[in-house]
Amino acid sequence: NCVVYWMRMTDLRLSDNRALSKASEKAKEDGVPVAALFVISPQDFIAHDRGARKIDFTLRNLRVIKEQLANLHIPLHTVTIMPRKKIPEKVLALVGSLGCKRMYANIEYEVDELRRDIKLCEVAAPLGIQVNLTHNRSVIEPGVLFAPSSGKAYAVYTPYRRLWVKTANEDLSHYLDEVAYPSANDASVRGSKLFVPLFDSEIPNFVEGFVLDEEDSKKMTQTWPEGEDKAREVLLRFLGTKARSTQLGAVDPLASGAQGVTKHNRVVKYDEDRDRADKDTTSRLSPYLSSGVLSIREVFRTTMDMFNLKKIDADGKTGASKWIQEIIWRDFYTDILASFPRVSMGRPFLEKFAGIVWENHQAPHDPNAAGNPDSDAEGLMRWKLGKTGVPIVDAAMRCINGMGWVHNRPRMIVAMYLTKHLMIDWRVGERYFMEKLIDGDLASNNGGWQWSASTGVDPCPYFRIFNPYNQSEKTDPSGDFIRHWVPELKQIRGPATSSPRDTHAMCGEFGSVIRPSKPPKAPGIASKFSSSSMHSEY
Ligand code: FAD
Repeated sequence: NCVVYWMRMTDLRLSDNRALSKASEKAKEDGVPVAALFVISPQDFIAHDRGARKIDFTLRNLRVIKEQLANLHIPLHTVTIMPRKKIPEKVLALVGSLGCKRMYANIEYEVDELRRDIKLCEVAAPLGIQVNLTHNRSVIEPGVLFAPSSGKAYAVYTPYRRLWVKTANEDLSHYLDEVAYPSANDASVRGSKLFVPLFDSEIPNFVEGFVLDEEDSKKMTQTWPEGEDKAREVLLRFLGTKARSTQLGAVDPLASGAQGVTKHNRVVKYDEDRDRADKDTTSRLSPYLSSGVLSIREVFRTTMDMFNLKKIDADGKTGASKWIQEIIWRDFYTDILASFPRVSMGRPFLEKFAGIVWENHQAPHDPNAAGNPDSDAEGLMRWKLGKTGVPIVDAAMRCINGMGWVHNRPRMIVAMYLTKHLMIDWRVGERYFMEKLIDGDLASNNGGWQWSASTGVDPCPYFRIFNPYNQSEKTDPSGDFIRHWVPELKQIRGPATSSPRDTHAMCGEFGSVIRPSKPPKAPGIASKFSSSSMHSEY
């Protein structure tokens, strides 16, 4: 007999993990051991366009977790299951073979995963296995906040954020409280000879079909080291430090004593600098938050603690307030994912835009989908490789290709460029991001792409098209970001890298692919958006 915790790809940590904490409490109460399970499902990786970087990051984190769990005498079993539709039965067979009657897991809100969990509960009930599913991904879980006028989930961010802040402030201890760290299996149960060998297994070094080449693997490991402690270092590097409690241990290289926040901390200037890609301005926590290596509630708690905030400010203008407001986007997009399953099925949120015929159409996961005959295959290839000739677009794409991450504004710039200059289907870009980003996350990625393509929740209007050169001045005023990622332009001094005329004159072969700065293709994109299947509001 035991209690099983099924760890998912989005909860790769021990602290502030509701399902693990509950499993551990229940096991203690019943005097039985806890066992942890992780399912590798290559078909789900394919269905979600997960790239090798993300899978490698998951496996690296699992290795750390396995060791941490072993210190608590909790074995971690990793099992590969195919086909994916058999996951519920196979997991329950495994759990049943241990005589286990209770299983705990945190909810994943993607539609395939919700269906899997519904089936899990259906199959488990007749077997007498109780499945307990818990919200753990957000501060305010999906389904709590509704627009008072419609009684439906919010589809606009600002009123969502205001209600989010009001709701959180009314009961901060409920929303931000930390759950108990799992306790060690006690001595009598941890010795169970039958139990451990069956349930303990090695974490594989790779998953077939998702292998990183050696160089990329080294780079990813250096840039994005695994483990909760490392994630906490990243948080503290951004927030600054004051004397921290014991859980943070000695992992505090930037400790500035008990003085608390110093002017050097990036968060202090986040309100002014967050769009700057030429500086280290944002937290770079997204890889850790998207895989759940760090708890979003811990991020909030630590920020509030650091700035001695008693309440969250919905409209505050300080760096910390602005940062908190940005993080709320993550809850917003999770809420959208859970409330509108169509967004995880490749559908536009605004269904009236489903009929747009893009220049290069690739229906997700449909190998037989015919491409549009006038597809801009070369344009797409250039975009992917960072060889469009537009310096800021190329720098951003090469940054993504190089480090699996880029600031938010360059993401918006390249997304708009793909959808509104090249007029290529946003799903093609969404998929490419998922394959390359180490922080690839369906809710935020889909939200960002549909915002840029003007098909999503609270989108920019279809006629709003970023001029990449103006945007370049905004996000890379020094030109350092472009020079770093586009070495062909390194001779150019200052922000001239934003100007097509200057770069064209100076950059020989590279310059020759720079297209002249044309006015945005407004008439073209407008005609897409007024295709017969839509009744345009604009
Ligand atoms: P910070 O500015 O320090 O913000 C802190 C955290 O808040 C982030 O780590 C993230 O968890 C959250 N956050 C901030 N802005 C947003 C936002 N606009 N939407 C959702 N969450 C936000 N984010 C991902 O985590 N995964 C993705 O796959 C992803 N794809 C994107 C695709 C496009 C086209 C766009 C425009 C945005 C995308 N984002 C995605 C959102 C955002 O760009 C990243 O979260 C952010 O750049 C990560 O850097 P950071 O951790 O330094 O952010």
